[in-house]
Amino acid sequence: MTAKHCVRCGSELAGQPPTCPACSHVHYLDPKLAACVIFRWEGGIFLMKRAIEPGYGRWTYPGGYVDRGETVEAAAVREVREEAGCGVQLDDLLGIYSYPQQTAVIIVYRGTVTDGVPRALSESLEARSFPESGIPWDDLAFHSTHEAIRDYLDAGRGAGVGLSRNLR
Ligand SMILES: [Zn+2]
Repeated sequence: MTAKHCVRCGSELAGQPPTCPACSHVHYLDPKLAACVIFRWEGGIFLMKRAIEPGYGRWTYPGGYVDRGETVEAAAVREVREEAGCGVQLDDLLGIYSYPQQTAVIIVYRGTVTDGVPRALSESLEARSFPESGIPWDDLAFHSTHEAIRDYLDAGRGAGVGLSRNLR
């Protein structure tokens, strides 16, 4: 989403980053943070089939955008409650995933269900747990979904946790 007019004076913006030719105000476009949680349920990894774009009809773990003024941890817990209808505690940071030209920075935690039964609510077509050998790799929603689930499985085998793949 690109701002077309200056929020201060209404003039048309030009350049990159978009800058007001009248008052020189620079309109920085910041990244958006998304907080997500991977957790096990009934012996598998809990995934949801998205009922919204982007990634409609494809699988990912619960998560969503961090609100301004909200901690990333609180956002992760809130999103699980809103999307999967259960409580979750965050165990540790799995990784931070960012890509060139992509607006969202995805922060993924490992978590454990504390109350309720995770299930599909309004933002999902379906929800279920997948055994490690049955992850639907070809039907995952995002590149970050691939990388985070791979890291989650690697972490379970004793590899390092908490480093972005980009830092390794
Ligand atoms: Zn202006």
